[in-house]
Amino acid sequence: MKTLTIIKPDDWHLHLREGLVLKNIIQYTSEYYGRAVIMPNTKSPITSIDSAITYKKSIAEALPESSKFEPLMTMYLSDETDKGELINGFKNNVFFAAKLYPANATTNSSHGVKKIENLYEIFESMQDSGMPLLIHGEVTDSEVDIFDREEVFIDRELSAIARRFPKLKIVLEHITTSYAVDFVQENNIGATITPHHLHINRNAMFFGGLNSDFYCLPVAKRESNRLALRKAATSGKECFFLGTDSAPHLIKWKAFCGCAGIFNSPVALESYLTVFEEENALDNFEKFASLNGPKFYNMPPNREKLKLVSRLNKVAEFIDVIEDKNIVGQIKPFHAGETLKWQVEGIVN
Ligand SMILES: [Zn+2]
Repeated sequence: MKTLTIIKPDDWHLHLREGLVLKNIIQYTSEYYGRAVIMPNTKSPITSIDSAITYKKSIAEALPESSKFEPLMTMYLSDETDKGELINGFKNNVFFAAKLYPANATTNSSHGVKKIENLYEIFESMQDSGMPLLIHGEVTDSEVDIFDREEVFIDRELSAIARRFPKLKIVLEHITTSYAVDFVQENNIGATITPHHLHINRNAMFFGGLNSDFYCLPVAKRESNRLALRKAATSGKECFFLGTDSAPHLIKWKAFCGCAGIFNSPVALESYLTVFEEENALDNFEKFASLNGPKFYNMPPNREKLKLVSRLNKVAEFIDVIEDKNIVGQIKPFHAGETLKWQVEGIVN
């Protein structure tokens, strides 16, 4: 049986939601990852130091007592962002980074930024203080084809930001195109890559009828892009690192409203590893999962190690959401019902 032991990974892009869902899903991340960057697009977005502290506290309360998992909080940028609050929060270790959502780009982003240039003064201060800027890189202009929105964002917005703020630590989140892969490498910024964008192309959304299971934002693109992402993720290059963008929705909402987001945290490591094995790049998995991210953010890698084994692993069809011992909802995980070839064994010292 093949095994792989790596430094404990981090998830550099995660949606934990709130309340009952948070309580039911957090263990999938907290058990095997040292840290995770927590997205601020909660129902009422995290736009202040107080709301970040309250959210972080609710995450801590949802964790098992012995957990060493560290949530890294982010501030949601909006047209009304208070620069003082943002920089103060960063300097006082409340905020790890700021997240830029163009208005209405994804779930709960209606408060996002309408005119990005209005934030340039804020980017200047972030650059000066070393605060990272995490970007959902899609334009939201309804006249732009949904499959082109990442490329258009890079041309219209990101290239100007990168040029104007060369020292700003920028991460282009959940990249989906070969265009983004090239841009990231040429412009000295970082990028997260999700497991689902390594596995599916846009056909998945139409498999067996309109299929919301594979609807996420940015949407998966054509096959040539998926192949470019696989090459980038498995290359070992320092600019690419693990960010699951795991984003749970209860099935009843996902199926009826077609909410964007794929819940992959129960299988993300196994899912990535399948890709690394298929690409003959198992040797680079630790870089992608555990080393490139900390290096980009100037943080030490985690101390503990994680062992994974090559063993058939049947993924559940549903994950139950439980309240007072009753099942009150279900969430469909990525790879539901499939059999993966890898399984997380656990933390080793
Ligand atoms: Zn996300």
